[in-house]
Amino acid sequence: MNYQHNDINNQAIKLPVGKVVCVGQNYHDHIKEMGSVTNEQAVLFMKPTTAICDLRQPLDIPTNKGECHNEAEIAVLIKSTLSKVTPEQVTDGIWGLGIGLDLTLREVQKTLKGLGRPWELAKAFDCSAPLSPFTPLDQFGDIQNIDFSLTVNGQLRQRGNTKQMIRPITQLLSIISESFTLLPGDVVLTGTPAGVGPLLVGDELTMKMVDFSVSTKVIED
Ligand code: ZN
Repeated sequence: MNYQHNDINNQAIKLPVGKVVCVGQNYHDHIKEMGSVTNEQAVLFMKPTTAICDLRQPLDIPTNKGECHNEAEIAVLIKSTLSKVTPEQVTDGIWGLGIGLDLTLREVQKTLKGLGRPWELAKAFDCSAPLSPFTPLDQFGDIQNIDFSLTVNGQLRQRGNTKQMIRPITQLLSIISESFTLLPGDVVLTGTPAGVGPLLVGDELTMKMVDFSVSTKVIED
């Protein structure tokens, strides 16, 4: 794996590449489109370092395991250890924010859910977490008012704003840190708004966060 975290000026960020902690069901409109109900407890799962790839590179998706869905999400890059911290203590541990995809093999996930099995085969495969370069935290005014979007072949597919999150970023990181210590270089994917759908070989994707944007093209695995 030759991925490293980069900033928006394409400078390497001096942090290792760690795990990815993801949250499911953090936007009401996505819960609705999935026919799910809002859980009292946050839905958390993880992707290993081998899931991380660079969103600016061609996107290699599995093509023989059913539909592979886009989930556009705000990504939080961790710069210092967060363990059992309060929401107020979280901000010091954040390097910055980027945008990423929580790629999901939807049919595999449905089967696993039906069997009551863990989700790794649907969520944690190689390159299932393509990430953009990161913008330092101090470049944002209010992190709970960030617009982001995903366009596929020129058509808007997903649009969200972090103010629509059920659990805001500081609360989310606090909850995660109760069970999983977040280490420097780890990334948290903060949930997807409505608009998930299958990606096809040849699709051209553009992801935007505020006025930063990054593009890629889907290629065959
Ligand atoms: Zn997701």
